[in-house]
Formats: sequence, structure tokens, C-alpha cells
Amino acid sequence: MPIQQSFRKKIFYYFIFVFIIFTVAILLFQLNREKQYKTAQLENTLENVAEITHNYIEHYQLLGNDNFRKADTLKSLIPKKNIRITVIDKKGAVLYDSFVDEFGAMGNHLQRPEIQKALYSESGSNIRHSETTKQDFYYYARNYNTYFVRTAMVYDIEAKNFLKANRFFIFFIIAIFLIIWLIINEVTKRLSLSITKLKDFAIKAGKNKPIDSNIDFPDNELGEIGAQIVKIYTKLQKAKDNIAQEKERLFNHMNILNEGISFFKPHREKMLANSHFIQFVSIISDTSTISAEHVFNIPEFKKVNDFLNENLSDKSEFQSNHLPQIEFTINKNERYFKVLCIIFADKSFEILITDITRPEKRRLLKQQLTSNIAHELKTPLASIKGYIETLMRTPDIDREKQHYFIERAYAQTERLNLLLNDISLLNNIEDAGELFEIKLVKIRKTVADAIENFSARLSEKNIKYKLNIGDDVVVNGNDSLLSSVFQNLIENSIKYAGAHIKIEISNYLEDKKFHYFSYSDTGVGIPEEHLSRIFERFYRIDAGRTREMGGTGLGLSIVKNAILLHKGKISVHNKTGGGIEFLFTLSKK
Ligand code: ADP
Repeated sequence: MPIQQSFRKKIFYYFIFVFIIFTVAILLFQLNREKQYKTAQLENTLENVAEITHNYIEHYQLLGNDNFRKADTLKSLIPKKNIRITVIDKKGAVLYDSFVDEFGAMGNHLQRPEIQKALYSESGSNIRHSETTKQDFYYYARNYNTYFVRTAMVYDIEAKNFLKANRFFIFFIIAIFLIIWLIINEVTKRLSLSITKLKDFAIKAGKNKPIDSNIDFPDNELGEIGAQIVKIYTKLQKAKDNIAQEKERLFNHMNILNEGISFFKPHREKMLANSHFIQFVSIISDTSTISAEHVFNIPEFKKVNDFLNENLSDKSEFQSNHLPQIEFTINKNERYFKVLCIIFADKSFEILITDITRPEKRRLLKQQLTSNIAHELKTPLASIKGYIETLMRTPDIDREKQHYFIERAYAQTERLNLLLNDISLLNNIEDAGELFEIKLVKIRKTVADAIENFSARLSEKNIKYKLNIGDDVVVNGNDSLLSSVFQNLIENSIKYAGAHIKIEISNYLEDKKFHYFSYSDTGVGIPEEHLSRIFERFYRIDAGRTREMGGTGLGLSIVKNAILLHKGKISVHNKTGGGIEFLFTLSKK
């Protein structure tokens, strides 16, 4: 793998570099020590030779009698042959030189560095290239009372020679180098394996690629670190995935809610809002908006703003089991919205808007209905109470009158019974429609039965009827409810339309889904201004008169609700020739 190699190569180069520097430093140090040692040795030899020469000159009293040639015998006395001996007088003139035959012709030597040094401090030395012999020489001079003795030797302390002499040392260094390299190689191999795997992992993680959580790291500290990192990363990744999933679930859930919901950060910045929230904010503000934060600019939400201002200050603190919340209702354009705002412990908050138009309208309707029912029940109850009280107060009332009162009271109980039946029927249609068994109904028979029930009253009022429904017309519905529909319509004609009229019931059209029916009479009809309201509960055109007729004001309500339960529709109009006509549909399936 290239990464692994480059890593190991680098370590190798670093190692070689450090090793070479180290080796060279040791060699230089050794060389220097060697030089110092050899120089000291050299100087010692030269000093001895100078001393011997001095003693020789003194012993043979060579000075002053021009007999210096005799000094050549000195050469044989000295163990080393290549030592040059020069005797120089105090003025610098050469008195003798063992290497030069014509020493008398040699130049003045007073300015030679070793002589200069010896002049002031008894002895001096200097290394220099000799033009005469073309070699480096180590010169040593010693100051005696009347002359200088200078001795010199070839100076050949070179690194080359030193290295040659230290061959063993070099081999030793190379061997150590190889051994250390082998060890380093093994160590880096292990380290680089961990590093390589960690690097592979890091690259993959950086690119969000899938990661094998079971990467096999080598059994060392770096490997352990790697394994831990991968473990932590995998855990984090899992947690991240879970959060993303939860968030998506929450978001999906929020979007199928019927409520509008939005979460905000403490500074009223939106975090999450569902589409219903935006929709409701638009309806309430009467402007189309796509921003949930727009809610804070709507006058209807002033209470929310005030509530937030009060509770979101830096000072306010609250526990999670006692979160501040506000709830109120907004009524806008015939629609009702319940608004709930809750502030959480971290000062983020939630606004929940629920469309309560339907339940609210229902509630108002129910309220009205209850008071209507109470009112309707009061009248017959009051008369019953009146009759019974009269009977109780006047026990000696004659039998005929007694009978009359009892009969009237009974009639009122009948009326109560009728009223309660109608109320309960309506309630059942509205709230428990599923209780009515739905099956295929041959509608002609249902209508014919209803007419049959009223046959006496029909002929009493001289009302004719015509039934235009085929035997095979079948609708999908509840037999008894459908029967109620036709009974109510027929009874209304008998009660309100007048005598000598004609009723016509026909099935005038059908399509894929519906049968279309018409119910009409040729009676007095209904004044136009009342038409739009006659399906309302307890709505009567002439309350006093209808009550007398035994009407509860619920008949047409029952008709309409029963047809709605059958997924049909109903409308009413006055016919041009007089009389009323109801048009309605009933579903086939
Ligand atoms: P009820 O149950 O008291 O008969 P309905 O709801 O059936 O009440 O009828 C409401 C009103 O419509 C009645 O008070 C009556 O005045 C009027 N009405 C209903 N049917 C007819 C009709 N065929 N001809 C004239 N008026 C009618």
C-alpha cells in the first residue's frame, strides 16, 4: 500500500539521517582525540630529541668552533631516522640542519612562528608545509641560552589513516546500524499497519462511505486507539441515524396531524412547522404566507407575544413538570381556532393551532337544540300538569268533564311521546348512523306501505295520489328510515297542504350512482321566505297552527338527515302551478 510505504520510507530516512549525523559526530570526536594524542606524542618525541641535541652540543662544545658537521653523528644516535634537527643562533642564522648539506646558505629563521613562540615562552610549535621537502612538518623549537634547537617530523595524521586504523570500529557501526534498522523496520511495520488502517477509516468516514466496524487493528496501543475510535465513530453514526429517523418520523407525523404545529427556538426562530400551521396562520392573518414566524406579527396572536415576552426573559426559570402555557380561542371569518403555546425548560416553545370550527359550531348547535327541546317539552308537560291539577283540586267534578280532562292529558302525553321519538330518531341518524342496517330496498313497496298507513286520513281529506316508481327500482339504504322519509312527506301534505289535492311520487331519472325522486303535492305550498329554513329543527311556518296539527317541527329535519345518511341530496321549491315539490336522490349501491 502506498501510504504504508511512504510512512515507512520516511521513518527510514529519518533514521538514516539521525544515524549518520550521530556516527559522523562520533568519528569526528574520535579523530580529534586521536589527533590530540598523536600530536602530544609527536611533541614529546621532538622535545626529547631537542634535549638530546642540546646535551650533545654542550657535551662536545660544538658552539663557536665551527665544528657543527660533527653533529651529523647525532642522527645515528636518535632512534627515529626521519627527524630533522636544526640549530639556530639568537639572531636567526642557521648553525646546523640535519636535512640540508649547505646549511650555511640557508635564510634567516628568526621569523619562523615556532622560533618566535620559543623566543618568548621557552618552547614553541607549528605545523607547516615545507617547500624544501614538499611535506607537512611539525616543527618544535626550544630556547637554550645562546641558541634554539628546532626539531621537526613529518606530520601525517590524516583521517584516511585514522579510518584505516579503525576498520573494526566502522564494521561495528555498520552492524549496529543494520540491527537497529531491522528493529525499526519491525516496529514501524506494526505501527504503520495501525496508522494505515486508521487512515483508510478516516478517509472513508470523511467521504461518508459505509464503514466496516470490525476493522482488525494490530495488537498494540495504536491499534487499540484505532479500534476505540472506530467504535466511538460507529456509535455516533448509529445515534445520528437514529436521530435522523426520529426526526423524519416526527415530521411525517406532524404532517398527518390535523393540528397546525410549530416549534421555535427561544429567539422565535422557527425550528419545525407543519403545513397545517402555515395554512392556519394564513387564514387567521388573511394573507398568504409561507413563514411560520409570521405568526408573531398577527394582531390575533398578541396574547402569545405578551405571554412569550413575560416568560422568555433571562431571569425566568421553570421546571419541566411545571411548564408555562397559554390557551385561547380565535374566531375569524366564521371559523374557530384553539391556540395553545407551551414554553419548554430550555426556553424553546411550541405553538399548536387546532381548527375547532366544526366541533365549535356543533357545540353551539347542540346548545341551541337543547334549549329548543326543553322549550318544546315544556308546553305539553305544562298542559298535562294543568289538567291533573284541576282534577285533583275539584274531586266532585262531573264525569263527563273528568273524562274530557283525562283525554286531553292523554293527547298531550301522546304528543310528548311523538316528540321524544322524533328527537331520538334524529339523534340516532346524526350520532349513530352506523346502527342503521343498510341493504337493498325495493323502494316502490316502501312508499306504497307508507301511503297505506295514511289511507284513512288521505281519503278523509279527499287527497288523491299517483305513484310512478317501477317495481325494479332498488336503492341501497335502511328500510325503516326510508319509510320515515315518505311518511313525513305524506303526513305534511295531509297536515298543511289542504284538502282536495293530489300527491305525486315519481322516480324521474337515474344515473350510474343515483336514483332521482320527486315528491310533490298540489297544495298551498310554502312562502318563499321560509323555504331556505324549513329543514332546520323546530322550524315552523306558523308555530301555533302546526302545534295544533300535532307537528313537532322535526319532520323535514328527519327527512333531510335521513337522505344525507344515504349519501343523497334534497332540495325544495314551490311549483309554478301551486303546491310544493321536493327533489332528492338515493344511492343505488
Ligand atoms: P312538522 O314535523 O311539525 O310537520 P316539518 O319540519 O315537517 O314540521 O315542516 C316544517 C314546516 O313546513 C311546517 O310547519 C309546515 O308549515 C311546512 N310544510 C311542510 N310540508 C308542507 C307542505 N306539503 N305544504 C305546505 N307546508 C308544508
